[in-house]
Amino acid sequence: MKLYLASGNPHKVGEFQALASASLPDLEILSARAVGGMPAVEEDTGTFTGNARKKARALKQLLPDEMWVLADDSGLCVDALAGAPGVESAYFAGPAGNAAANLEKLIEVMRTVPVGRREARFVCVLVLLGPDGGEQVFEGRCPGQLRVKPAGNAGFGYDPVFTPDGYTESYAALGEGIKNQISHRARAFAALARWLRADPGGWRRGRDSNPSAPRS
Ligand code: IMP
Repeated sequence: MKLYLASGNPHKVGEFQALASASLPDLEILSARAVGGMPAVEEDTGTFTGNARKKARALKQLLPDEMWVLADDSGLCVDALAGAPGVESAYFAGPAGNAAANLEKLIEVMRTVPVGRREARFVCVLVLLGPDGGEQVFEGRCPGQLRVKPAGNAGFGYDPVFTPDGYTESYAALGEGIKNQISHRARAFAALARWLRADPGGWRRGRDSNPSAPRS
């Protein structure tokens, strides 16, 4: 089964490809770049699910009916900031969507928040659109704490300041191997994988209508 990912973020594509190869080797994740790039989508619905749905539908329109599309919308929700940056995570420091500026702003606005009041969680919502236009929604969360100082070089976005519960190092220091076992995206993807395994009819419909898909 082939699945097109409605994202222009190469880090996300890489994470999804790693997740799929670990748990669903029959699934091939292709970047929107393979079909000319992800069309611009205004992420204005105010919810992760609404934004993910908009991205999925925007890419689906560019593809033949029989293709599967997966979109992700994700962000970091900080308790001390009443859930911000949340759905605005990519644009926290302004519409340019500058990841370094977003990270710097988060560190700054959290500077006076003491240890013990720095709870946060990453949230990921996945919207899967099937050949028949059917939609499935999956969610994954990863709770943790915000660090005072960034640490680590792997990953992207807010990874250097987020320490997942049960660990002492940041997502960025833990690296892709651990992050892909525990992250919000990994948990949402695990729910999607369970659904695909539990719905072989849906899976096969996708395969049968896609002659180039692998068969086993
Ligand atoms: P999206 O691409 O519209 O879903 O925006 C997601 C934004 O949330 C990214 O630009 C990052 O700022 C943040 N984000 C989502 N997932 C992660 C992650 O795994 N690590 C770090 N930042 C993330």
